[in-house]
Amino acid sequence: MRYISTRGGGEPLKFKDTILAGLARDGGLFLPETVPDLRDSLDAWRPLPYPELALEIMRLFADDLPDHALRRLVEKSYASFRHPDVTPVVPVGPVHLLELFHGPTLAFKDVALQFLGNLFEYVLGETGGEMNIVAATSGDTGSAAIHGVRGRARIRIFVMHPHGRVSPVQERQMTTVTDANVHNLAVDGTFDDCQNIVKNLFNDLPFRDACHLGAVNSINWARVLAQIVYYFYAAFRVQAATGAANVRFTVPTGNFGDIFAGYMAWKMGLPIDKLVLATNENDILARYFTTGVYSLGPVAPTLSPSMDIQVASNFERYLYYLAGENAATLQQWMAEFKAAGSLTPGVSPHVCFAAGRGDTAGTLATIREYWTRHAYLLDPHTAVGVTVGSQFLDPSIPMICLATAHPAKFGDAIVRATGLDLARHPILDALAALPTRMRIVPADTATVAGIVKATIGGKNA
Ligand SMILES: *Cc1c(COP(=O)(O)O)cnc(C)c1O
Repeated sequence: MRYISTRGGGEPLKFKDTILAGLARDGGLFLPETVPDLRDSLDAWRPLPYPELALEIMRLFADDLPDHALRRLVEKSYASFRHPDVTPVVPVGPVHLLELFHGPTLAFKDVALQFLGNLFEYVLGETGGEMNIVAATSGDTGSAAIHGVRGRARIRIFVMHPHGRVSPVQERQMTTVTDANVHNLAVDGTFDDCQNIVKNLFNDLPFRDACHLGAVNSINWARVLAQIVYYFYAAFRVQAATGAANVRFTVPTGNFGDIFAGYMAWKMGLPIDKLVLATNENDILARYFTTGVYSLGPVAPTLSPSMDIQVASNFERYLYYLAGENAATLQQWMAEFKAAGSLTPGVSPHVCFAAGRGDTAGTLATIREYWTRHAYLLDPHTAVGVTVGSQFLDPSIPMICLATAHPAKFGDAIVRATGLDLARHPILDALAALPTRMRIVPADTATVAGIVKATIGGKNA
């Protein structure tokens, strides 16, 4: 399998090179040249345990890794999860919750980033190279990425988060990791500022090459790949439990990474009747899927900070398919959006999509309802999804809502919803006693570039 850029530039790359590059050199995102049709494999794969299923799916896309190596990477990555099913599916009230938060940092991003950390270590060990990861986080990516690569040889990580705009627990999950290869930068700005700095650094090709930059943001194809697996896993489990021919998914969405993996699963032939995209008040994507206009709004802080995003970096991948896999059309659209802050592609979204917005009042009401009626605590991101997903229930088609974080990560929202401090987790409680390290920086690309250079220089000069 080879990978091409959404913007049409460069030669197709193999999987390993795609993963190391992160972002394509023409500024586009990587996509596989072709999407395999798996409809004939579904029945054979239904009973597989998570790591076996992951191996079957990943080997199609990572065919330049030896099978035994890929198997070891997958097994190691999912051994760090605290549940034997890795991503268990639990029926709660009218929906099925796909619990994606049993990894080390209690958020769904561990599913991809535990794998990516192991993958980087393996590939760099083969090539003898090194990598400096530069990442932006709205909260959960940062800690999951840091836990994916902490203490590893050949890898440094620089993580930018918007100063004071991630939850206190999220901040501690990052800043209490004091391994020498981990650098936390608190940027005075928004998540979009952080994400822009990452894009600027990657688009400065001489800097990118000199510093061996690597990406763990959801622009990295390996993250999408790892996330495709649990759509298959959950659909198989729920189909087995209910006998249903089709399923629906609701995905609380920020950067369009998680739901894009669901879209790929749909393209690969998984019987997904609907993919329901759920946003909070930062609803650019929900507005796009309901009105056809993709138009920038201001970023508003909400109870679900990992979804406080306007420019969704992975949306370009979807637009590429919407453009009929035509890079010239995609380029024109991206230029139009950049110039006007708004884009009307004029092509209808694929039929699998539905969308809606869960506001703060609705989210709090959903958390309260699931606690009082079903004795189940939803984190606020998951609750946005359940709020929107509840508008798309069909008695004959099971609804699988992605549960993207453990509620204890967002204890304040739980207190606001229920009046009680119910959400705790021993891993998080233990963080309070640990020392922290971070550096506050302005939202300025040159400053961050200087820090990266100085840190690398300090070791390799
Ligand atoms: C990152 C995140 C999301 C949004 O995922 P995207 O891939 O950015 O759409 C939702 N919920 C939680 C808890 C997250 O950490």
